[in-house]
Amino acid sequence: MTRPLYFDNNATTFPAPEAVEAALPLLGEFYGNPSSQHAFGQKVRHELELAREQVAGLLNARPAEIAFNSGATEGNNTAIYAALQARPDRKHIITVKTEHSSVLEVVRSLAGRGYRVTELNVDRAGHLDLDELKNEISGDTALVSTMWANNETGVIHPVGAIGDMAKQFGALLHVDAAQAAGKLRIDLKHELAIDLLTVSAHKFHGLKGCGALFVRDGTPLEPFIRGGHHEGGKRAGTENTVGIVAMGAAAKVAQLKLDANIDHMRKMRDRLERGLMSQCEDLAQNGDPVSRLPNTTNLGFRFVDGEALLMMMDAHNICATAGSACRSGGMEPSHVLMAMNVPLAFIHGSVRFCVSRYTTEEEVDALVSKVSMIVKRLREMSPFPAAAQRGPAQPDLEAHKAYFARA
Ligand code: PMP
Repeated sequence: MTRPLYFDNNATTFPAPEAVEAALPLLGEFYGNPSSQHAFGQKVRHELELAREQVAGLLNARPAEIAFNSGATEGNNTAIYAALQARPDRKHIITVKTEHSSVLEVVRSLAGRGYRVTELNVDRAGHLDLDELKNEISGDTALVSTMWANNETGVIHPVGAIGDMAKQFGALLHVDAAQAAGKLRIDLKHELAIDLLTVSAHKFHGLKGCGALFVRDGTPLEPFIRGGHHEGGKRAGTENTVGIVAMGAAAKVAQLKLDANIDHMRKMRDRLERGLMSQCEDLAQNGDPVSRLPNTTNLGFRFVDGEALLMMMDAHNICATAGSACRSGGMEPSHVLMAMNVPLAFIHGSVRFCVSRYTTEEEVDALVSKVSMIVKRLREMSPFPAAAQRGPAQPDLEAHKAYFARA
């Protein structure tokens, strides 16, 4: 298979050569158990602790505040249950409608088990309203859980201001930073209102199945996965030494060149956006164009069938993600874009393109030329008359819904 034009870096990233190289000895020669007392095990322990320092470095946290786990899904689950156990007399959870399913599904399941759950709204730009948070939060709120940056739109939440409000009411703040690490500067020595924070190695050029939970010193944490004394009692189970050492190396590289990487990603993302905007008509960028991740753009091609767009992009060996997911014969619109009230005609033709520090200008230019050609072709084939396609900004939603609800 030839190398794809890979623009799906919020789904997963290319493993950094430095990360793979660091992990190789642990796949072979150094297979000891880091919990063993013998020197062979302790050699691996040493590598693990070095990785802990490196991950702490990326977050500007203390190594003792980092517990390795299997990724952000586990981190989010753990953080939510830990926060509720730390505030046992409180029965209210606040989160946001645009969170990842590893937060939303957990809190929704708790709603049926004695907890009251508030899902904050977002506006058209993807931002939550701090006044709504102020109205909802109370002395009964155990936890506020929000992402730092959205995986679909890249929109950044003001975690400092959210945390300050949580602190005023004695609630804990959990931040899902799966998309922020390596793309934004994270400084947990200064973002004091964050109690718990999740990261995932494969989102910043580490390996899949490995992540870390930051637990601020002094925050009580009941382990979610029990049955051993690993990770300072915060997460039982023999550590994924290969993934952890790779994560440490990936964190080190990400930290060393963070500003240059951010600059490069922004340039590539903006080149892509400008290119497609100049080549395609009736195109809207979803979400705040300024306060967002430097690598992410979510573009809605009005009256283009996202499913067909993705299939044709796939046929051209382009990797990206659609704003609507195929579910049993129909198209399920993205809950993030729905919460932002993006018109269905744009949601169904929405695609997320995400660059990385490895993305080149040549790749961006190739993507722009192929995608604009595909969009033109699909519009020619569209069942909507050309006049309707050029029509008012608010399309006939009923006709559009009917079209997308087809079996
Ligand atoms: N949170 C966010 C914001 C994500 O984008 C993802 C991955 N799509 C996750 C959590 C889950 O991460 P993992 O793959 O490490 O379980």
